[in-house]
Order: sequence, then structure tokens, then C-alpha cells
Amino acid sequence: MNNAIRSIKGTHDILPEDSKKWQQLESTIRKITHQFGYEEIRTPIFEKTGLFSRSVGEDTDIVSKEMYSWEDRDGSSLTLRPELTAPVVRSYIQNSLGGKSPLHRLFYIGPLFRRERPQKGRQRQFHQCGVEAFGSPHPEQDTEVITLAYSLLSQLGLTNLNLKLNSIGSPECRLDYRNALQDYLRPILNELSETSQKRFESNPLRILDTKAPHEIDIIKNAPSITDFLSDEDQAHFNLVQSFLNQLDIPFTCDPTMVRGLDYYTRTTFEITSPTLGAQDALLGGGRYDKLVETLGGKATPAIGFAAGMERILLALEVEDSFESHDSTDIYIVCLDDSGLSVSIDLANQMRQAGKSVKLETLRRSMKAQMREANRSGATYAFILGENEIQNQTVVIKNLKEGNQEIVSTLNIENIINDLTI
Ligand code: AMP
Repeated sequence: MNNAIRSIKGTHDILPEDSKKWQQLESTIRKITHQFGYEEIRTPIFEKTGLFSRSVGEDTDIVSKEMYSWEDRDGSSLTLRPELTAPVVRSYIQNSLGGKSPLHRLFYIGPLFRRERPQKGRQRQFHQCGVEAFGSPHPEQDTEVITLAYSLLSQLGLTNLNLKLNSIGSPECRLDYRNALQDYLRPILNELSETSQKRFESNPLRILDTKAPHEIDIIKNAPSITDFLSDEDQAHFNLVQSFLNQLDIPFTCDPTMVRGLDYYTRTTFEITSPTLGAQDALLGGGRYDKLVETLGGKATPAIGFAAGMERILLALEVEDSFESHDSTDIYIVCLDDSGLSVSIDLANQMRQAGKSVKLETLRRSMKAQMREANRSGATYAFILGENEIQNQTVVIKNLKEGNQEIVSTLNIENIINDLTI
């Protein structure tokens, strides 16, 4: 194994024992998004680099240091997508979806790429599911998206959830807030970290995202964005809160939660799980009423969220909430080579009848094949011994209950009708 090639740091194989959990997660995502009337969109894995620098923001961590970008042969700069909102917006504009209907509810599932320092809950290739709702500026749309996010996590079985909510207002009032925040921080600028000092000029709101304890203390007394919201922003925010209260969805308001990306307006939200440790964010989202316009489309209000699928699976493991249903229905045990063609035929017919069938292809001993049949979790073993092959019969053994019967292989309908799966 010395010269065997290994996977890239921060990327992970999803092995069969785990892929069942992924399938279950994906099917719950599809179920919940369907219940809320969202339809799936799939976009390419790579895009032009400018799409992300123009939307996510030049001085965000993602764009400034985490993107996998390269120069293509024609000299253009391409990037493996580090997030999915910008690609979905690009597609929304390019395919003139807005012209076809005033409201679009979309969801996605897919891999993303960020060159981060790998650690628990932080990978270089990871997966997100998310939704984007285009067209409505109203608080009921915010409520719908937040409710969908909360329902998804609750239906998966997570109970330990903290929903944090904030409004960062419209760009106009954010400018006033930015000035007030700079006025507050200016006299103590040298107490801030190098990163925060840089952000002081480029994007001071992002200083509020800090994880450094001494900066968190400084921020506690900083002016609050809530005091700078316009009447319209405040009314919007109030209605979102009152709708969530009406639906009994618990939340707390956190005025320091401005989220890492440039394109948010008004409502921002995040759901964390205290069971996850340092990387505790399960999902984050918000309204981005200016992004469609910024990327060259017609001004269209929108709101969405993105959830980290690895993090959801980690939280489910911690809360021990996973049930696995997936197993084989039938294992075909063949004890003589002369039965191979019958067993292939039986497998084929059972699959056509909708059953899940595993077929012995290693020509092992009877003992080994029966052990494998039990291990596979199959409900039935179909056993073809010499006698059965000669008599055109098969032993059908119920592995859960232990009883068995011999039936003719000439009448497949009877076999299918006899099975209780
Ligand atoms: P963001 O797109 O940064 O708002 O992230 C949304 C969600 O994606 C987070 O709440 C995490 O659950 C997840 N996430 C972000 N970055 C990573 C990463 N490097 N590895 C695994 N999950 C991530």
C-alpha cells in the first residue's frame, strides 16, 4: 500500500455503510421540499470565477482564499463552486425564469468546494442542500423558508436546535450602521486582530462574525443594527417574528449575526446544534433582494438557505436519531454450477417483480452462502441444491422466522404471491 494513491486532504469517500444514511437524508429533503412546493434545480459544478467574486464578495474568506480556481486553456478563470446561491441566481437569470412565472421555489442538493483547513465538520469537498425562493419581498415568504428549514431538521429527528434570527436591514440603513460601528471601533482599533483591522475599512460588519473571545467582549457594547433599521425593515422583521411565534417555532434574535456573505438584505437566520462543538452551524440563510440585479437580471427579491449535509449527519449521529430501513429482500443460494442459469433467471424475474435480490457470484460453500444470506439482512433465502435443480423447484426459507417450503420454479407467479415482502 506504500505507493497507493490516497484521496485529497479534506475530501471523504462515502462508503456503502454510510450511503444509506445519505439516501435517507436526501429522501427527507425531497419529501419536505415537495410538501412546501419547491422544485429541484441542478447546475454545473464549475462556473466562471467572476460569478462568485461579484456576488459573494471579493473580501470574504470564500473568495479571497478558499476557492479552487484555475485558468482554462482559453485564458478564462474558472472555479469549482464554493456555494450554490450564485449559480442558482445565474441560472434563474440566464433561463429567464422570472419571465415565465412571478414566483419560483427551487431546491438543490450537491457538492461544494472550499479550500479550508480540514477539521471535524469542515471539509474541502462537502455537500449542501438548500432552497431559493424568487419573487416575493414579503415576510410570509421569509417565514415559509425558515419554517421549511426548521421542519427539515425536526423531521430528520433533531431536537437540539437553536434558531437565531436577525435583520440587517436594507443597504441604505446598513450604510448608517457601518459608519456608527466604525466610529465605535476607531478608538480601539489597535486592540483588534489583524483580520478585523483589515475588515474595519473593507467591511466592518464582518468584524461582528469574530470568534475571538476578546473581540466578542468588545462587540457586546457596540451599536446594534436593530437601532438602525428603517420603519419598513422593522415592520418586515416584526411580522416574520410574529408568524414564527404563531407557528410555535422557537427562535432568539441575535443582532450580531450578519452572516459571512455580502449579498444579504433584511432577514438573516442560522440554525445551530449545541451537540456539534466548534463547527455548530447546521444551516444559514437570508434574504438577498439585490443579488439578481447585481448579477445582471431584473430586480427580483429572493430568500434562501443552505444546510451542510455532513453536519446534519454528524448531529444525527450524536443524537442517535438514525434508523435504517434499507435491506435486501431475497438472497439466492446456489449449491451447484448446474443451477446457475436458474438462479440468474430467478433473480431477474424477482427484480422485475420489484424485489431487491442478491445473487451468489463467488460459488462458495453452502455454509458460507447461508452465512452471507443472513448477513445481508434478506428476508428470504432461495436455495437451489442438486435436488431442487433436478426437480425444477427451489427451497424458500424465511430467514426471519426460520420456516421453509419447497415450491416449483415453473410457476413464478405463485412464488411472488407467497412472499410477504
Ligand atoms: P455557508 O454557505 O458558509 O453559509 O454554509 C452553510 C452551511 O454549510 C454551514 O452551516 C455548514 O453546515 C455547511 N458548511 C459550510 N462550510 C463547510 C465545510 N467546509 N465543510 C462542511 N460543511 C460546511
